[in-house]
Amino acid sequence: MRTQVGIVGAGPAGLTLAHLLHLRGIESVILEARSREYVEQRVRAGVLEQGTVDLLVGTGLGERLRREGIVHSGIELRFGGEGHRIPMSDLTGGRAITIYGQQEVVKDLIGARLAYDGPLLFDTADVALHDLETERPRITYVHDGRPDELECDVIAGCDGFHGVCRDSIPPGVLELHEREYPFGWLGILATVAPSTDELIYAYHERGFALHSLRSPKLSRLYLQVDPDEPIDDWPDERVWGELHLRFERDGWTLREGPIIEKGITPMRSFVAEPMQHGRLYLAGDAAHIVPPTGAKGLNVAVHDVKVLAEALEEWYRSGSTELLESYSATCLRRVWRVQDFSNYMTTLLHRLEADGFEDRLQRARLAYVCSSEAAARSLAENYVGLENV
Ligand SMILES: Cc1cc2nc3c(=O)[nH]c(=O)nc-3n(C[C@H](O)[C@H](O)[C@H](O)COP(=O)(O)OP(=O)(O)OC[C@H]3O[C@@H](n4cnc5c(N)ncnc54)[C@H](O)[C@@H]3O)c2cc1C
Repeated sequence: MRTQVGIVGAGPAGLTLAHLLHLRGIESVILEARSREYVEQRVRAGVLEQGTVDLLVGTGLGERLRREGIVHSGIELRFGGEGHRIPMSDLTGGRAITIYGQQEVVKDLIGARLAYDGPLLFDTADVALHDLETERPRITYVHDGRPDELECDVIAGCDGFHGVCRDSIPPGVLELHEREYPFGWLGILATVAPSTDELIYAYHERGFALHSLRSPKLSRLYLQVDPDEPIDDWPDERVWGELHLRFERDGWTLREGPIIEKGITPMRSFVAEPMQHGRLYLAGDAAHIVPPTGAKGLNVAVHDVKVLAEALEEWYRSGSTELLESYSATCLRRVWRVQDFSNYMTTLLHRLEADGFEDRLQRARLAYVCSSEAAARSLAENYVGLENV
């Protein structure tokens, strides 16, 4: 097989890239290791920045997003038993976030891809990249039990943090920046109406908690836990008990419901620089990971592929490699802004150490964000997504 752009991975990055390329008349083939059912059910992100929503709506993917997405114009920071609202839209000239599950974005993108018969191969195995430093890079893989090969002009590595593309770059080329946080998130999905209209980020002496949602009937809640704790140590009653303690506030009640998903995710920051080598371009989690506190992973992945699609369009149209050559530098400006904001939110809201001094510093920072318009505006404009970085 031969195509213009070979895309590895059908997560938000790979699928959005294929969609943007199709709209520009550029062919691509997507190779995905998992089944369609698996990628459409994978529960992860749920907070879309204004810019992500604008891109999806502007490229014809807004129908269900507009109908089912829940627009939020503020968030609550809760600490010391009190809630403080950050009115994000008022502070950012009307920009907002939209709650719409990542799996719904993925379903919409797959639906659009299949509607125009765009090649999308699920359940591909043994994906390997070759000849990246030539003008004819290749991807070999096994599909339906048969070995096959895809010859491309360029390859987009959209295969997430654990994929194969980043590791296909020769040793010594990439500079890796990494930070492990000494805690993880225990996340649950519960079939119960959210107990809040807007997201609640709680700082508590027992640890951080987040009340998010996925729909009017589905609540998504998180607890700061030890990253190595076995999930079996967290039976449902313990999860709810801990959530009640951390969200405690007079006159407010947390509604409980059946837990339909539960898992522990470690917290990590990671950036691989540069995000390109030869004819391979990395995008999304394949190149960078943020701790989820800033709700940025999916959004920055979508931004990467927007930059890549524009660069490829320019290359095919005019033969100019200028935008392709600056792809990594352009993306990394936003990647590092997002890393800084995600680290800020993480260290603002998590219990960092059992140290009274650190605790007082965090409370002082929280009180400042909740009392200074300048500090609140800074949080708000980063949270809804900066237009230009
Ligand atoms: C619990 C949790 C909560 C999160 N919350 C948020 C949030 O609120 N907001 C936010 O913006 N982000 C959030 N994120 C991050 C967000 O989910 C990721 O940043 C996003 O999925 C990145 O998209 P991607 O396409 O780059 O990678 P992925 O979604 O990881 O997609 C990569 C794809 O490549 C496939 N693949 C892997 N290896 C191969 C291979 N060898 N061959 C072929 N295919 C392969 C995978 O199966 C997968 O489908 C969260 C993440 C987690 C884990």
